[in-house]
Amino acid sequence: MSPRHTHYDMIFLGGGCAALSLLTRLLRSGQYATARILVIDRDSKKNNDRTWCFWEKGVGYFEDVVYRQWGQLDFFSAHFSSPLLLDGYRYKMIRGLDFYSYCLDLLERSGQVEWVEASLADVSRTNDTLILKGASGSAASQDLRAPGDSGSTFTWNLSATLVFNSIYKPAVTSSKQVDLLQHFKGWVIEIPDSPTGDHGSRPAFDKDRATLMDFRVSQQEGATFVYVMPLDERRALVEYTLFTPSLLRPADYEEGLRQYIKEYLGITDYRVIEQEFGIIPMSSQAFSFFEKGIFNLGTAGGQTKASSGYTFQFIQKQSEGIAARLLAINNSAQVRRDVLVYENALLSLKADPVRFRFYDRVLLNVLAKGYWPGDQVFARLFERNEAGKIFRFLDNESNIQEELAIISSLPTGPFLRAALTAL
Ligand SMILES: Cc1cc2nc3c(=O)[nH]c(=O)nc-3n(C[C@H](O)[C@H](O)[C@H](O)COP(=O)(O)OP(=O)(O)OC[C@H]3O[C@@H](n4cnc5c(N)ncnc54)[C@H](O)[C@@H]3O)c2cc1C
Repeated sequence: MSPRHTHYDMIFLGGGCAALSLLTRLLRSGQYATARILVIDRDSKKNNDRTWCFWEKGVGYFEDVVYRQWGQLDFFSAHFSSPLLLDGYRYKMIRGLDFYSYCLDLLERSGQVEWVEASLADVSRTNDTLILKGASGSAASQDLRAPGDSGSTFTWNLSATLVFNSIYKPAVTSSKQVDLLQHFKGWVIEIPDSPTGDHGSRPAFDKDRATLMDFRVSQQEGATFVYVMPLDERRALVEYTLFTPSLLRPADYEEGLRQYIKEYLGITDYRVIEQEFGIIPMSSQAFSFFEKGIFNLGTAGGQTKASSGYTFQFIQKQSEGIAARLLAINNSAQVRRDVLVYENALLSLKADPVRFRFYDRVLLNVLAKGYWPGDQVFARLFERNEAGKIFRFLDNESNIQEELAIISSLPTGPFLRAALTAL
């Protein structure tokens, strides 16, 4: 399938979390009733390919699709374990499929958005022309390709007022760049109704209380923890997670999960009803918001917090900022509404203070270079600081005084060394 038109008001390259978060805000405003919008994605977004967890105070923009939320969180490690003081934050979970269905339904009802399923291999924008090269149909997915079917490759020349990209490509932007991967395997486990195992008829999980991080597992590969998100009294998402430079063998994640469930949850009788595997880049790469006529969103636009991997809420903040700028132009009496007016409005969006990138680089260096073990870093952070303050810090929303308090709770030697490396 090719795009039906050659010119669009907006083109989105990638139609995942960031694109849908922005599009939903724009379409809901009612100001895009006559707009022509194109989304190109290699996927139809009909699968539950991820679960987002994040902390938030009050009601969020996507509250309607919050699947579960918890008002109590625990932290565990060999050095420090405790319930966390959340200062009004709640920990929320959104299932990918619920989010996609909610947004895609709005896109479809708007009648303004054309969704083209194709895999993009090369994108460039020169003057007014957006040149897209890639493969569509069965050629877009190696998995779907029938024997002997090469599918069809394409070059499309299009034009658009605004182009947004959320297809992430790792790059090395400095000799001091540090890269780690947050990689994880998650199982949704279910305890049978009348278990024959250790639990009798007792509920296995407290559905109001989740485990944010449990570092009591082996730290042999690097910073490794498990989180446990109960869905109800008999089902929970258990995720085995590492912050390390390279992936494990598939069987190793499963072994980690099996051991944890047995040893720390005390559960032997269960079945795995869903699973997910994910990789989130944790990189000190210098990301650009605007590059060669294209605005980068989401992970591709640097919205993944390099030191934690959390992204969902940064995407929401970015979408809110972009949508507010675009809607303000549409609402204004301004006569000129050309490419430059929109581009300048978006380029005037304020980025988070640069010091937060520096903190991220320092923590990445500590973890990647092994200056201090990851389990001890997080144990110290949660032991000496209220979780609410850490959440604000990790959201890039703390003030310098709060940051100094957090920094001074960490050991000087390893962090100073990492800071000097990160400068
Ligand atoms: C399994 C998983 C779990 C996560 N959990 C959390 C979490 O709990 N909390 C949190 O804050 N963050 C989490 N993240 C990180 C982050 O929030 C997500 O990756 C989020 O989806 C990023 O949004 P995005 O729009 O930048 O990228 P995506 O949502 O990945 O969107 C990019 C889109 O581009 C499409 N695409 C990619 N390559 C091509 C191509 N060549 N051609 C055409 N289309 C292409 C993809 O199909 C996708 O739809 C998780 C990530 C993963 C992978």
